[in-house]
Amino acid sequence: MVIVLFGKPGAGKGTQAPRLAEALGVPILATGDVLRAAVKEGTPLGLEAKSFMDRGALVPDTVILGIVKEALSQPRFARGAVLDGVVRTVPQAEGLERALREIGRGLDAVLVFDIDDEEIVRRISGRLVCDACQTPFTGVEPGAPCPKPGPSDGGHLVRRKDDEPDAVRTRLQVYRDQTLPVLAWYQQHGARVQQIDAVGAVDDITSRALRALGLAPAQGAA
Ligand code: AMP
Repeated sequence: MVIVLFGKPGAGKGTQAPRLAEALGVPILATGDVLRAAVKEGTPLGLEAKSFMDRGALVPDTVILGIVKEALSQPRFARGAVLDGVVRTVPQAEGLERALREIGRGLDAVLVFDIDDEEIVRRISGRLVCDACQTPFTGVEPGAPCPKPGPSDGGHLVRRKDDEPDAVRTRLQVYRDQTLPVLAWYQQHGARVQQIDAVGAVDDITSRALRALGLAPAQGAA
């Protein structure tokens, strides 16, 4: 299965992606994580992406589509993918469609995580991420060790530079201007677009997403 997680920055895509990937038995492709790793390593990709990312702007489509095509050609994505944060512009939607067609696949669903701006700002201002595994956490202290269960990855909790208030405002504006039109594009192209209420407990949101994918019983079903 190939699914796209769609929604504003801070809508919970990064929190839900590992849960949905586990349920579907496919890996995650998160362009934001690929780019942050490249910035950290100081690769040419990272050097190109950094200035866009720091101010909350989008990295050029050609760069993103290069990452997506390269990833989807790897054997580990042969069974599908959870795409987190990919498809933020119409050219990316078109490019992803072509890349999937080339490997004999199609997009199974677009899950739209629905949440208002006030809740986004509240969430992002309380969010820190692990500087090693990139997992987001709330209700935690900067500098604390990564609280992810299991063996320690040696990471510590930090605020993402693009989670500073000015960058968040830019990212929300970019979402409205460049990313929202992608939904209309998918609807016109007959994609299965499912709205998920993204406010509430993390487990409940996962259940809603799985129900939308037909992978969990409908609410109230016996
Ligand atoms: P994210 O972790 O998905 O919020 O992405 C963090 C930042 O990486 C974004 O604000 C963009 O600067 C960049 N980025 C990640 N994915 C994309 C994409 N599909 N298109 C353009 N820029 C992206």
